[in-house]
Amino acid sequence: MSISPTIVWFRQDLRLDDNPALDEAVRRGGAVIPTYIWAPDAEGDWPPGAAGRWWLHQSLASLEKGLRGLGSRLVIRRGDPLDVLRDLVGQAGAEAVYWNRRYEPAADGHDERIKAGLSEGSGGTALDVRTFKSSLLFEPDEVCTKQWKPYQVYTPFRKACLALPSPPEPIEAPARLKRPRRWPESLALDDLEVEPQPDWAAGMREEWTPGGAGARERLDEFLREGVVGYATGRDRPDRIGTSRLSPHLHFGEISPRQVWHAVKHRVSSSRNRAVRQGAEVFLSQLIWREFAHHLLHHFPHTPAEPLRAKYAAFPWIDDESGLRAWQRGRTGYPIVDAGMRELWAIGWMHNRVRMIVASFLVKDLLIPWQQGVRWFWDTLVDADLANNTLGWQWTAGCGADAAPYFRVFNPVSQGQRFDPKGEYVARWVPELGKLPPKWIHRPWEAPPSVLAGAGVALGKTYPAPIIDHDEARRRALAALATLKG
Ligand SMILES: Cc1cc2nc3c(=O)[nH]c(=O)nc-3n(C[C@H](O)[C@H](O)[C@H](O)COP(=O)(O)OP(=O)(O)OC[C@H]3O[C@@H](n4cnc5c(N)ncnc54)[C@H](O)[C@@H]3O)c2cc1C
Repeated sequence: MSISPTIVWFRQDLRLDDNPALDEAVRRGGAVIPTYIWAPDAEGDWPPGAAGRWWLHQSLASLEKGLRGLGSRLVIRRGDPLDVLRDLVGQAGAEAVYWNRRYEPAADGHDERIKAGLSEGSGGTALDVRTFKSSLLFEPDEVCTKQWKPYQVYTPFRKACLALPSPPEPIEAPARLKRPRRWPESLALDDLEVEPQPDWAAGMREEWTPGGAGARERLDEFLREGVVGYATGRDRPDRIGTSRLSPHLHFGEISPRQVWHAVKHRVSSSRNRAVRQGAEVFLSQLIWREFAHHLLHHFPHTPAEPLRAKYAAFPWIDDESGLRAWQRGRTGYPIVDAGMRELWAIGWMHNRVRMIVASFLVKDLLIPWQQGVRWFWDTLVDADLANNTLGWQWTAGCGADAAPYFRVFNPVSQGQRFDPKGEYVARWVPELGKLPPKWIHRPWEAPPSVLAGAGVALGKTYPAPIIDHDEARRRALAALATLKG
């Protein structure tokens, strides 16, 4: 008797290797129908932003190419996932539907509805509907305190993760996929119109190679050159000191398990202490990603509301022109402007600079962190509901294990410390590129002759600071005091 086909529904797991749903479908033995459903309405308040959509289009193209290499193809549909899957089951005569789990509140809720709906709608046939762990090392419910509660502090969460059995070794990609006798109807990728128009992605195209091969290349490069200096260099935006794997991880072009084991293997084949230290710090960052998903799963309201409820009463300011200056990289603070322009150009920003620009928005300008969340959501290629929420709530002091609100980043000393020669600023704010390192992070204090020599006319070629940082700091602390009272 021939085995009926299995539908494998791809979501944020756009890869062929270490893909448990795909692997299980192959093991089941029948034809495999790889499927992608474009369903922005199913994402609740968080349909993919513009930069994320650009990435998604490229990533799907790469997945489609990979599937063709296995003798298969990608069935592309649009619409409510339950309706689409039901229709596909009918058209293909499938008796199994497999997919990998996601943990964002909208996706989590839909999964239950879709599972129930598929089982109900399958008439007399028993439909085999199964989901798998794929995008995290440790699922949110696998890790909890002794009182069976979610963690809210990172260090004990990390310890608890490391006390669990090590994540299993990744699975190889299948060598071939069995085709169905007849393919169900499919749209072409371009029909989805996922890619934003007009095309403003030149900078992103130059910087990134979306897809599994690009992810592997980044990882290999990091293992070869980056990991050795990671412990000391990861805070330096003027160097390529981090892996830049975040968009690849978000779209599941590479799994955290693959990254985890590749790093472990690198350590075991090296005697260099710096490699060991770099690897340890790097794996801790991967666990921050786990922590972010753990928090979002247990506190699903946090993309829009503070985890610490008292911060809901914080006296934020409605400041349209401040927000616009921040978004456009025209605040007059070079490190802030460099970060915001890097974001606009390549859809990514160094972690240290994310903290600096976020602090500037919420503490210097007193603009609600939710407005920063939204801007990042639209402009980051790695926009990720869990990591973005954690990053903003951490900076605003209202989240789990957050930086205390009274710790206000000074954009000048941060710039001087982490971009000592001003190379990062010179790259993204070229109109300041001729200023000597001594002045590049505080051009308003430079002697007129230095400014003139560097071709800088404050207020003309580059903005004067839109706010005085010391005054802003006092204002932020006063605002915080109202909260306490
Ligand atoms: C305000 C703010 C917003 C952020 N928004 C996002 C976002 O939308 N998407 C996103 O992926 N990251 C976000 N981050 C976290 C962090 O900045 C990025 O993950 C990191 O810069 C990605 O670069 P990388 O891959 O070179 O990191 P590496 O240093 O090479 O780290 C490896 C991986 O670990 C994970 N990781 C590293 N740092 C963190 C962290 N602090 N929190 C959670 N995971 C982490 C990422 O998946 C990253 O790819 C945000 C941070 C802040 C302060």
